[in-house]
Amino acid sequence: MKAALVHGKGDIRIEEYPTPSAGEGEIIVRTKVSGICATDIKTLLGQGLPKDLPTILGHEVVGEIAECGKTVSGYHVGDRVAVYPIAVCGKCHFCKKGRHNLCENEFGLAHGIEGGFAEYVRLPKEIVNIGGVVKLPDDLSYEKAVLTEPLSCVYASLKTCKVEAGSHVLILGAGPMGLMHLKMAKWAGAKVISVDLLDERLETARKMGADYCLNPGKTDHKAEIRKITDGKGAETVIASLGIPSVIEEHLTLTRKGGTFNIFGGPPAGQMISVDPRWLHYCEINLTGTFAASPVQFRECLDIIIRNEIEVEDIISDRFSLDDFLKAVERARNQKMIRGIVVF
Ligand SMILES: [Zn+2]
Ligand SMILES: [Zn+2]
Repeated sequence: MKAALVHGKGDIRIEEYPTPSAGEGEIIVRTKVSGICATDIKTLLGQGLPKDLPTILGHEVVGEIAECGKTVSGYHVGDRVAVYPIAVCGKCHFCKKGRHNLCENEFGLAHGIEGGFAEYVRLPKEIVNIGGVVKLPDDLSYEKAVLTEPLSCVYASLKTCKVEAGSHVLILGAGPMGLMHLKMAKWAGAKVISVDLLDERLETARKMGADYCLNPGKTDHKAEIRKITDGKGAETVIASLGIPSVIEEHLTLTRKGGTFNIFGGPPAGQMISVDPRWLHYCEINLTGTFAASPVQFRECLDIIIRNEIEVEDIISDRFSLDDFLKAVERARNQKMIRGIVVF
């Protein structure tokens, strides 16, 4: 099969690679669409690059079942499916509590096993057994279905923040995941304030329903946010970026009793300082979220199936696997909202 193989930092090559076959309990999916996530780009540029190289990145996969291993039941060759990308044990303390993304034995597509930037993907029994291979209705396009995974991550984020209708959600960053947060927050009935340094991104946020769009490079955005929220700050603040200084600078825009969620993965080794008196007397929830549970993944697929959130307009660029290097370049230069690889 053809695959995008990562050989090292910034070194990705389109090459022939052995096509996987299904072991006991495993499923092989013929990839139809693979989403390109910020994590893939960060990894490719050296942040958290796995030791065993070459490897195949990509954890947002939809396609058609090409082979079912022995003991797999309920699935057939030709089934159209979306894939929850984390393989979990189902037995540890965290799995039993339904917090699968915190599993002590987790691995998954693009970390530990080969991912979706390839013509075929092997899904281990740990993904199959937790219902991580989810069948798609015939009339749902692969392009919509591939957005289930990123949507589930923002769904988990807003669940943790307990976003209520009518409340203010301040979203720092209007990149692809900031825009996904915006869509999910509007779905929850919240008022959204989008903040970004790039006007093009804010323009997209405005088109997607943001109530307020602020560029810190051009306005005193903090004063504006205080005005919008009657001086109280936002009930929910989401850092949909991983820049510690930006996180630190915006903490106090959280309303008393509100939640600040660090959603974007920050780089290792950088600290922020937090006033414990403020945390205590203002009863602030300072938290983080990443990924989602298999249940949340299926709930998000249902939201997409019911057309409750329009997701497709997040896709700005479509590439073939042969053009993968172009995709990396465009993502690195923040030239695209969200790119997908179509097989
Ligand atoms: Zn992702
Ligand atoms: Zn577990």
